[in-house]
Amino acid sequence: MAYIEHTIEDVENLYTQYIHNKDDLKLIRHSFEYALEKHEGQFRKSGQPYIIHAIEVAYLVCQLQGGPTTIAAAFLHDTIEDCGVTQQDLIKEFNEDVAEIVFSLTKIKALSHQRRHDKDFVAEGHRKIFLGMAKDIRVIIIKLCDRLHNMRTLDFQTPEKKIRISRETLEVYAPIADRLGLNEIKGELQDLCLKYLEPNDYLEIQEFLNTKVRYREESIQKLEKKIADMLLPTKIPFEIKARVKRPYSIWKKLKEKQLTFETIYDIVALRIITQTELNCYEILGLIHSEYSPLPGRFKDYVAVPKPNMYQSLHTTIIDRDSSIIEIQIRTKEMDIIAENGVAAHWRYKENSKYDPKKEQLEIMEKLHWFSDFVAMSNENEDSREYMDSLQKDIFEANIYCFTPHGKVIDLPNGATPLDFAFKVHTKVGERAIGAMVNNQLVPLGHKLKTGDVVEIKTSQNANINRGWLNIVTTNSAKNIIKKYLAKQNADFIRENNIQKGRDSLIEVFKDNGITEQKMDQLINQEVLKIFNLETSDDLFLQIASRTILPSVILDKLGLRQESTIDSFIKKNTSSKKSNFSNQSVLVKGTPNILCTLSPCCSPIPGDNIVGYVSQGKGIKVHRKDCPNVSREKDKNRLIDVEWNPACKETMVPVQVVVRASDRDSLLVDILNLLSQLKIPCNKIMAKSHRTTFTSTITMTIQIKNIAEYRDVRDSLINIGGVYQVERVTH
Ligand code: MN
Repeated sequence: MAYIEHTIEDVENLYTQYIHNKDDLKLIRHSFEYALEKHEGQFRKSGQPYIIHAIEVAYLVCQLQGGPTTIAAAFLHDTIEDCGVTQQDLIKEFNEDVAEIVFSLTKIKALSHQRRHDKDFVAEGHRKIFLGMAKDIRVIIIKLCDRLHNMRTLDFQTPEKKIRISRETLEVYAPIADRLGLNEIKGELQDLCLKYLEPNDYLEIQEFLNTKVRYREESIQKLEKKIADMLLPTKIPFEIKARVKRPYSIWKKLKEKQLTFETIYDIVALRIITQTELNCYEILGLIHSEYSPLPGRFKDYVAVPKPNMYQSLHTTIIDRDSSIIEIQIRTKEMDIIAENGVAAHWRYKENSKYDPKKEQLEIMEKLHWFSDFVAMSNENEDSREYMDSLQKDIFEANIYCFTPHGKVIDLPNGATPLDFAFKVHTKVGERAIGAMVNNQLVPLGHKLKTGDVVEIKTSQNANINRGWLNIVTTNSAKNIIKKYLAKQNADFIRENNIQKGRDSLIEVFKDNGITEQKMDQLINQEVLKIFNLETSDDLFLQIASRTILPSVILDKLGLRQESTIDSFIKKNTSSKKSNFSNQSVLVKGTPNILCTLSPCCSPIPGDNIVGYVSQGKGIKVHRKDCPNVSREKDKNRLIDVEWNPACKETMVPVQVVVRASDRDSLLVDILNLLSQLKIPCNKIMAKSHRTTFTSTITMTIQIKNIAEYRDVRDSLINIGGVYQVERVTH
């Protein structure tokens, strides 16, 4: 590849086309003369005067229509490093802006020299440092132009340097150019890298292109003419160019997709440039009506642009001679952006105020490069917060520290060893207990400086605590710590609820005469299956949240009815088995039939009652208004029963629900009342409802008769806050 050298007049011819302001022209001219003077007597490896390099870089910047400050900085870009000029000199001679850009370029160069010999050269880290230091798009553009000219003249370097610079270019600079959509620069950089890194492959591809393209030239021209003839009568504006695929992208396709030269269809593509988006689709329609498209090859980057703003319609068609060719359709504007990306978008516009900060924001928005970073990191958090903090961390990166192995860790100003630890790896952060900075033991809250070598001391156990939030400055570390603390808190609440649920179940089972041991047995053998749960912890959690009630568990196990009734019957009949005079309920006319009180509505002596002839279990006594009775369809099973007037000392359990406004010591007042009335209470449970500020108290009390119940009820309703007292029917 031979390059025509440019002169200062060539550069002038370019920028005078779009820069007219006298002060601006003066600034550019002065910067050139200053650089010429400072580089006087310096020569490049090629033997040429050094100023040629500055002129070429400025020329490339002008091709991208850089503004006066950018052009001036391009001329001056090597003066601080090579000519003993200081940033102060440049401020005095030019202005802050120019000086700052040149200074940033010098910093980047120094850093890449410093880290160059590392074994741990990590391209991604290097790109990040570069982007972090170059907070101004003008710095990035000049740096890329500088690298391009250095690559173009790489022949004069030593073989080792050729390899090293090519590798760095391919891994660091080409991806940045790609991300910025600077496709022309990216393409040329990659081709040059291929030439030095894989010289044999490069030659083979060149050879192939020369023969293949020449061989196909005629048929491509024919196709061009056919498409032009088709479009002309439609009056849609268009322009057709043929474009040959770049060697590097052919090489990549051959390597990655295991293709052969014959199976790469898009070595030559036709590019149709038109005026509007609509025109693009119209042209696509016309082409598809004339030629059959290759299935699966149509891509609509107009509707869905690539992250670097690239827009175009791509389709691959089969020509009549059955050759295959890719066609790209785009507007003029899309074409400019496709070639020069960001630079096209931020082309110098005279008389518009230049604001690097605003511009940086726009770039970030337009390029979505941070979504790329997010995609690269393994965490799947798509939240804005994450994006924002990442963005902040990268762009506020001001200090650069090193791991003992020489890996660069970029951090914001004021960062501490703890930030460093989390940046290295979440696990390192979680287990950090101390830090060595430049071989000195320091606290985790120590402020780091650029160049510090930081070694983190860890212990096996996670050490995170709330105080760390005051030590770290990076949002990414803060997020990890917060997440960890929240999880720890959730674990604590969960443990607590498991215990609560278990305790309340133990209590209920105990009331029914079942030991804790037996309960655990029942849970594992039956309860989990019944409720379709995995572990007993799941069950206890559901009990704590009251999605499963202990009483329901007893019901399902068939335990509660049995035990309550059994004990009731035992109490009343065991001593005089054949004597029914002590039975509380008698069947009218036939006093010798066993009657038991049904637990579903727990009738109290005095209630209106009815008997139900159950199968094998004698007669169950219900209240007349019990819903279970009214639901019973077989009315023949109902039998008249009456309270036994001879049985005076019987006590029956009654479940009562008290509803009240939530207040302190409500439960104490209820228990006091019951004890004053001498009403035994064998179970009481309170639940407060936070949303309604009410509580529900469920209790089981022992009652002699309905009159006594009414007394209790009336007394309860007189307790402050109580608004409802009800007997429970299951
Ligand atoms: Mn340079």
